[in-house]
Amino acid sequence: MPAELIDGKVIAAGVRAEVAGEVATLKASGIVPKLAVVLVGDDPASAVYVAAKGRACVEVGMAESTIRLPATTSQGELMQLLDSLNADSTVHGILVQSPFPSQIDCSAVIRRIDPAKDVDGFHPVNVGKLMAGERDGFVPCTPAGIQELLRASNVATRGLDCVIVGRSNIVGKPMAALMVQDGPVANCTVTVCHRYTRDLAVHTRRADILITAVGRPGLITADMVKPGAAVLDVGITRIPDPTRKSGTRLVGDVDFDAVREVAGLITPVPGGVGPMTIAMLLRNTVRAAQRLAAA
Ligand code: NAD
Repeated sequence: MPAELIDGKVIAAGVRAEVAGEVATLKASGIVPKLAVVLVGDDPASAVYVAAKGRACVEVGMAESTIRLPATTSQGELMQLLDSLNADSTVHGILVQSPFPSQIDCSAVIRRIDPAKDVDGFHPVNVGKLMAGERDGFVPCTPAGIQELLRASNVATRGLDCVIVGRSNIVGKPMAALMVQDGPVANCTVTVCHRYTRDLAVHTRRADILITAVGRPGLITADMVKPGAAVLDVGITRIPDPTRKSGTRLVGDVDFDAVREVAGLITPVPGGVGPMTIAMLLRNTVRAAQRLAAA
């Protein structure tokens, strides 16, 4: 029997509806949650992501402001802008869209954002809170979204083997920190694989939960998956497809059609993990507004 699909669009819509309710409650007490998005340069993919984030804020009733800076922006100018957003009490969440132009020091930018407004969860304070299992920080949106997919799919994670392929700071590492915690939708035995892992299949075949965040289509084949496993595919790669009007389509890291015959649960690409990322950004922003209001 083919694996059951984890429908990220439906689960993300549920999160958005919940956030919209929380926004309405905050507004009734005079607080309008606001996300400030900073885009430096003219990377076309970044412009698309930023526009999607702005639209999503408006849909749940939040305020948003997108600040577009030229590719020639200096480090100092960007820092000044972040200082003013940190000081602005009407702004609850701040996000600086990557990638950055080469003159910008990415880690200095992340460190300059007030951790209480760091809704991407990349500031070392929030990274540390996640590692320490403290729940008052911000968890990066994609791993948080994957945990939400597992929760919504009623996966009883305790004691399971969770194998994560990819060790980036935005997905793989925070995902590992989340799944190893003592708490709901966690308590897994976690393995993190990366480009120097010797025999990837040895690890993936043990996985009750397999999460891949690499960006290499076809990396995970059916023989690498344990029967009945939950497979969550973060990878997004655009490949040529002459059968499509656009001439291209998006695929993940998993050989979807073949793996679907082996797995128990599987996310499609697109429509799996992707929609969760923005939904969790909205949730983090409303949390920031709630916490700043309570402070
Ligand atoms: P990255 O691009 O920074 O790094 C890729 C990772 O894959 C590295 O840790 C590397 O060690 C590992 N890797 C490379 N080749 C490998 C191999 N042969 N075997 C095992 N591991 C290997 O990672 P990222 O920024 O997390 O992005 C990964 C993918 O996820 C990309 O396709 C990206 O577009 C996608 N992504 C999707 C979302 C979403 O919302 N759905 C969010 C973030 C990233």
